[in-house]
Order: sequence, then structure tokens, then C-alpha cells
Amino acid sequence: MTGAYVYVDFGAVRIQQYLARTPGLRGHRAASNNLARATAAALILEVIGDLAEVNPEAGRADGVVSVRFPAAEGGCEERVRRLQERMFAHLRRALPGAEFQSVWGEGESYLAVYAHILQPKVRRGQVRHDLPPSAEFPLAVPCRMCHVDPAVGVEPVPDGLLALCLDCSRRNVPRRQAVADTRSPEGQLLQDIGLAPAPDSFTDLAALGSAASGRNHLATVAVDGNAFGLFFKALADEGGQDARLREAKASISTALSLATRAALANAALELPLTVEREQLCVVPHVVGGDDVLVSLPADQAWWFTLTFLKEFERLVRKETAEVLDQLNELRVGRAGLPALEAPTASAGVVFARASHPLNLLVESAGMRLSEAKAAFRGRQASVHWLDITADGAEYPGHPPVALHLLRNGDGGATAAAAALSRLVEVPASHRARLTEALRGSGPLTAAALADRVGHLDAIRPFLPPLNRIDQLDQIGQPSVSGIGLGAALNLARWWPCA
Ligand SMILES: [Zn+2]
Repeated sequence: MTGAYVYVDFGAVRIQQYLARTPGLRGHRAASNNLARATAAALILEVIGDLAEVNPEAGRADGVVSVRFPAAEGGCEERVRRLQERMFAHLRRALPGAEFQSVWGEGESYLAVYAHILQPKVRRGQVRHDLPPSAEFPLAVPCRMCHVDPAVGVEPVPDGLLALCLDCSRRNVPRRQAVADTRSPEGQLLQDIGLAPAPDSFTDLAALGSAASGRNHLATVAVDGNAFGLFFKALADEGGQDARLREAKASISTALSLATRAALANAALELPLTVEREQLCVVPHVVGGDDVLVSLPADQAWWFTLTFLKEFERLVRKETAEVLDQLNELRVGRAGLPALEAPTASAGVVFARASHPLNLLVESAGMRLSEAKAAFRGRQASVHWLDITADGAEYPGHPPVALHLLRNGDGGATAAAAALSRLVEVPASHRARLTEALRGSGPLTAAALADRVGHLDAIRPFLPPLNRIDQLDQIGQPSVSGIGLGAALNLARWWPCA
């Protein structure tokens, strides 16, 4: 025995898009439940038998299964292959339309194997794929629910009969069974916060919003950690000799996925709407190690997003403080490397009518998230957003914003947040005219218009300081509050009233 393990990971590829391929919340929940049941530890143990054990060093993430077995002298490829075949067959039965991949590697700790073998293999495409079987009858009618796979039969659905593919057939459960399984991300959140369940459909979820919101808009929020890879790799590379760091290596992944879950529960609980209704008003679709995807009423989105990001930062800092101190002692003292900061998270937020297809929203929220991360190179928490109803589905006309501009460390209002609360009090029709003037003729015209109708004070924090007023003709110029007028007018649409 070498003390090393062979780690074998399985994951659903593009899991968010797969879950979102049926338009309604009912089909989505059913797929999410199927995934949660299929990847629950007890069932995985049955599937892998004596070939492996569930990997205790890996944190929990939806759609991901990690197993391990002790590395023996000689080859282990045959055992990996048998494991993959069993697991793929099992996952395929549960989720007929999903695409899976598996990757494996050998080493002393999961963290090191993940950073040095598994992740590079995934990047280079050195993975084993398992694809849905292709249609035996190429002329079969396409599925009327997802429009992705060929239909295999006609079934009753709530409003008639539909030709469905195998995957949509699995999602077509009766309404009374369409409640969140306790192992699904929604079921877990419900267990964590202990309130009445979320509504049955996206329409009903949007209807929970305030009367002023129109009660027909939802926000899709995608969150992902910043620089976790850097942190994990540094931890994997250092501290082979240090007992405390070795111990941290084995437990940090689980601790961080618990921090993600706790941040989600805290943010959901602190929503004004949750407090008012004593009901779950956030539907989580996927909760991974450091990523989260949720839907919620549009007028709750900024509350949720800013609270989640702050809570996440606080909890991750708490979990990593000791490890980072030791790591930085080694890095800075010995190698002269820059000190590492605790990882943070960024968010992409998309606003649209409740009837907008979820798969498009998931795609768009993911793009906004990438833009937010890229704008700050993953070095600080940030947000980017798009209002599809007001601005169309194209790239937003305003830049991403750093989180610290919108929310203080202690949760208090920043100068920009206070100014936004004032801007919300300007009637929506005036704000729409200001947006039009800004887009048509620039900030000088917008400022003149605001002055005429008595709202100049409300927009002044989003204009450059008076001694730099000559820069007014540039959109995205530095402003007093750190946020430009275009971004501020856009944020104000769904900014919560104080
Ligand atoms: Zn289908």
C-alpha cells in the first residue's frame, strides 16, 4: 500500500442547461429531483459496490459524484473502466437526455489530484464521455416539450396530450408529485430554513412580487466563486510537511460547499418577501461547491444577490482564515510569492418576464457572470446584469459594478446605494426619459433635462465631479459615487424601495 488513492469523478456536462431544457418549473423540479436521487450517497454505494467508496474529501455539488479506492501496485485502469461503466449505466437510466463525463487520477490527496490531474485533463478534453443514445429512427417527430430529442410516445400533460422524448417523459410527473425532493437543492434549502414551500410555477413565483413590480417579472441569478482554483492549487502545492495544512486539504472542499449552502439559506431568509410571507421565495436550481443558480421575483433580486455575495465572503473568510495565514507564511516568507486573499464570488443577474424560456435566461445570466468576473479579473466580488424586457437580449450598455460600491462590509448602505434609493423615488417615466436622453444625446442633455424637471440632485452622484464636467460626454466616466448614470438608471428599475 502506498497511502495514495485513485480518485474517479463523474459529472453532468452543462448541468444548468440540461435542467433548464423544459420550459416549466414542474419539469425542472422533476429533473432536479431525479438528479438528486440518482447521486445520493446511499444509492451511489449500491452502484459502486466493493469497487470504491464515496470520496469523503470532496465537497457536495449538484450533478457531481466523486469516488475513490486505494491505489494498488500495478495498473488500476481496468477497475476505473468497470466503475465508469456501472456509474454511466446508472446515471443514464435516471437522466436519459443528459451528457456525462468522467475523469480519474491517482495521488496522496484529492485536492492535489484535482488541481494537477483532474482539472487539466478536463481542460484538455481527456475525459470519458457518455452521450444520450442517438435516435434509432431519424424521421421520428421531435419532442414537443424540449424540442431537443425525438419523441418516444404520446402522453397526457396538464393541458392535453404531447409527444415526448424519454427525458421529458421522466419529467412529466403528476402535479402532487412535483414537490422538491429533500435531497434536491430546493428541498435542502427548504429544510435549512423551515418555511412553506415555493410556488408551483414561474408565473406564481413572479406573482409574489410587490404590486409596483407588475407581479410578472422574475430574476435569474448565477453566482460563481472568484479565484477558488488559485486558492486550491496553492493549498495543494504547499504544506505537504505541515500537518495542519494536510488536514485542511482534506476538509476545506466540504467546508466551502457548506459555506455556499449557508450563504444561500441566510440570503433567502433575509429577503423582505420571505419575512413577510413566511414562505420560500427563492427557487435554487443548482447549488455546486462555489456556484449557485436561482430564480426569484424581480424586485427581490438585488436584496438577494448583494446579501448572498456578502454572506459568502464573510463565511469563506471565516473558513479559510487559519489556512491562509499558514499558507501565506510559507509563500511570502520562503518563496517571496504574493500573499493570497480569501476567495470571493461574483454574480450575473437577468430580469425578464416570467414566461421567458428558462434556458435562455440561464445562458444570459451565465454570460453576465463571465463579464462581471472578467471586468475585475476575478480579484474582487462584482455584479453584472441585464434587463431583457427594457433593453432586449443583447449585451448590456453599462459596465459591471464592484460589490463594495453597492454594499458595505457591515451590511450598511454605501454612498452609491443611498443615491440609488433616492433615484428610485424619481418617477419611472422620468427615469425612462433620462435614459432615452442619455442614450440619444449623452449625459449633458440628460443632466439638463433632469435640471428642468427638478431631479438634478437625484442624478448628481452618478455624474463626474463638477471640476471634471468636461468629461460628461463620455458614458462610463468616473462619477462621484463610482457608478455611471447609465448603470444607475438601469439598476434603479429593480432597486428595492427603502
Ligand atoms: Zn423532450
